[in-house]
Amino acid sequence: MKPRILVCNDDGIHGPGLAPLASAMRRLGRVTVVVPDQERSADSHSLTLHKPIRLRRVKPDFYTLNGSPADCARLGILEILKERVDLVVSGINRGYNLGEDVVYSGTVAAAREAVLIDIPAVAFSQDPESKAYAASSSWALKIARQVLSNGLPAGVLLNVNFPSGAVKKPLVVRLGQRIYSKDVTKRSDPRGGHYYWLAGTKVTSVRSKGTDVTTITDGHASVTPLHIDSTDFAMLDTLRTWEF
Ligand SMILES: [Mg+2]
Repeated sequence: MKPRILVCNDDGIHGPGLAPLASAMRRLGRVTVVVPDQERSADSHSLTLHKPIRLRRVKPDFYTLNGSPADCARLGILEILKERVDLVVSGINRGYNLGEDVVYSGTVAAAREAVLIDIPAVAFSQDPESKAYAASSSWALKIARQVLSNGLPAGVLLNVNFPSGAVKKPLVVRLGQRIYSKDVTKRSDPRGGHYYWLAGTKVTSVRSKGTDVTTITDGHASVTPLHIDSTDFAMLDTLRTWEF
């Protein structure tokens, strides 16, 4: 039987990486798309619990939701596909999700939500300036095929990033470090009040070997396994010596 694949994202229905990823996945199985009805980047892993969410069927196997990326994965798996789903893919995001980005990323959160429901999942992201979604999608196809044939351990998702230009072979690496600007922009409104912009646009990447940050600057795609369990095991014994 053909695998059932759910495609989600956080860039919403108009995200440039959605159609190329969905069409690549159709070469592997039957695809259902559930995406936010507007851009929800940096929504992280929010779930909409305090207001109703509405699903809109755009065409067969294609839905939008006025909810978060994680809502899309959850509703897609539980309500639309009734858990008959072999793989969830998220993306391809317009913009990298490297290092600490995974904390904020809605793209990663949609994949993480799937893993919380025990469905294997992969998050795909690419250079924000690159338009090469079709080329990235052909790598996404190869990676998804491997996940379908090998499976993933419980609690693990894959986070994949594609650089701009001709993408070299994906390398398996750990998360690196990205440093965001700490700027907060404060402005005045016409009534004398204040408002703020959290821009966070300036990013410095720390180049250390074997990380996603370094790998993409060398022109390779990066593949990083992420675990749901964020316990710091190295700290457990030290912490047990503290007197609470
Ligand atoms: Mg996004």
